[in-house]
Amino acid sequence: MLAHAFTKSLRLLIPGIITLIAGILLQQQAAALPLHYKDIVTLLPYILGVISLILAMSFNQGRLFLGSLNALCFYAAIQAELQTSLNLPANFVFFSLLCLLFPAQQALLSLYPERGFSPRWAIPRAGIIICGYLLLCGLKYTQSFAGWISTLPSSMLELAFDPLLLNQVSLAVFSATLLLNGFLLMRRQSLVDAAMLMMTLAAAVMLAFFAQPLVSALFACSALILLLFTILFNSYSMAFIDELTGLPGRRALENQLASVGKHYTLAMVDVDHFKKFNDTYGHDVGDQVLRMVASQMRQAAKGAQVFRYGGEEFTILFKGKDEAAAWHTAERVREAVAGYPMYIRGDNRPEDADEGKNQRSKGQPESDYVQVCISLGLCQNTDDLADSSAVLKAADEALYKAKQMGRNRTIGRQTGITNE
Ligand code: GH3
Ligand code: MG
Ligand code: MG
Repeated sequence: MLAHAFTKSLRLLIPGIITLIAGILLQQQAAALPLHYKDIVTLLPYILGVISLILAMSFNQGRLFLGSLNALCFYAAIQAELQTSLNLPANFVFFSLLCLLFPAQQALLSLYPERGFSPRWAIPRAGIIICGYLLLCGLKYTQSFAGWISTLPSSMLELAFDPLLLNQVSLAVFSATLLLNGFLLMRRQSLVDAAMLMMTLAAAVMLAFFAQPLVSALFACSALILLLFTILFNSYSMAFIDELTGLPGRRALENQLASVGKHYTLAMVDVDHFKKFNDTYGHDVGDQVLRMVASQMRQAAKGAQVFRYGGEEFTILFKGKDEAAAWHTAERVREAVAGYPMYIRGDNRPEDADEGKNQRSKGQPESDYVQVCISLGLCQNTDDLADSSAVLKAADEALYKAKQMGRNRTIGRQTGITNE
C-alpha cells in the first residue's frame, strides 16, 4: 500500500521535475543572453502569474490560486527589494527573512483542503499571503534593517552549506515544509500537492543560488508554468474523468467517437441488480461496488477503452475490431467482474477490535460476500447504422436482450452470440 502510494506520488512529481530541470538548464545559458531578452525574461513571471491567477479563479481551483499568488508576491518582493548586493546589511536581513516567509506561506497553504474558489474562502487567505510580503517590504522601509543584523541569531547569519546562500534556519524551515508537502502528497495523491512540493523545492534551489544571473525570473517562470499545467490538467480531469471510478466519462466517450473512424465496436455494459446493493447495504457500498467493477473492467479490457456512461452503466470502445473479435474481450471482462471475490463490511461488524474477536470466535460473520455480475450488449459499426449514437443505441438493445435472457451474459447484436 505504502509502496503503491510512493510510486504514484513519484509519477505525480514528473511534470514538476521536468520544469525544474528546464529552469536549471536555462539558467546556465542566462549569462549569455542579450540585455533586451533579459528584460523580457524578468517580465515573464508577472505575465504567467496573472494568467494562472485568472485561470485558477475561472476554473474554480482555490489552492492553485493561492499557490500562484504566493509565487507572484515572492517574485515581486525579490524584484522590488533585492536588486542590489546581498552584502548590504539591509538586503541581507531582508533576504534572510524572505527565506523564512516563503516556505512558511507554502506550509500554510498546503494545509488548506481543496474547496474550489469562492471569494469568501479565497479573499482572507489571499490577504494573509499579500500582507506577509507587504509587512516585510514595509519593515525594510520603516525600520533600519541594517541595524537588525546584530540582533539576528547566529543560525540566521551562518550559511548551512557555504557557498549556497541558505542560512541554517531557512534550511530547517524549507526542509520541514518539504517534509509536510511530501506527507500531504502521499496522503492525498493529488497533482496540486505535487506542484506545491516542487514549488517549495524550486524556491529553495533558487535562493541557494541567488547570486546567479536571472535565477529568480527563471525559477519563478518554471514554478508558474508548472502551476499553469496543473490548473489546465485538473480542469481537463474535472471535465472528462469520472471522479468516483477514475474512468473517463461520457464527454470523453463522445470526444473519442467523433474521431474514431469506421471500424469499431461498442459494448454497453450494465451492472446486474445493482439497486439491490444500494438497498441492502447503502449507497456507500454501492459506490464501492462501482469502483470494483470499473477497476476489473479496466484491467481485463486490454486494448479497448472503458468509459463510465453514467450511473451503473459503462461503455467499452473496441477500435478497429469487429463484433466477433470484441466478443472475446467482452467475455473476459464479464468473467473478471463475476469472478472477483467482493467482501462487504457487514452492519453487525463492531467498531471495537476485541469485541470483533469475540464475535468471530462465536462464528458470527463480520462481512458479507457478494457476487457482482454485469451484462453486455455488443454492436459493431455497419453501413445500416447512421452514426455512433445509432451504434450505441443498437448495443443498448443487445444489452436489453442479455438482461431478458437472464443477465451475467454477453450478446452481440449482429451475431447474437452469447456465452450460454
Ligand atoms: P438491472 O439488472 O435490470 O440492471 O437492475 P438494476 O437494479 O441494476 O437497475 P436499476 O436501473 O433499477 O437500478 C440502478 C440503480 O443504480 C439506481 C440508482 O440509484 C443506482 N445508481 C446510479 N448511479 C449510482 C452511483 O453513482 N452510486 C450508487 N451507489 N448508486 C447509483
Ligand atoms: Mg441501468
Ligand atoms: Mg443495472
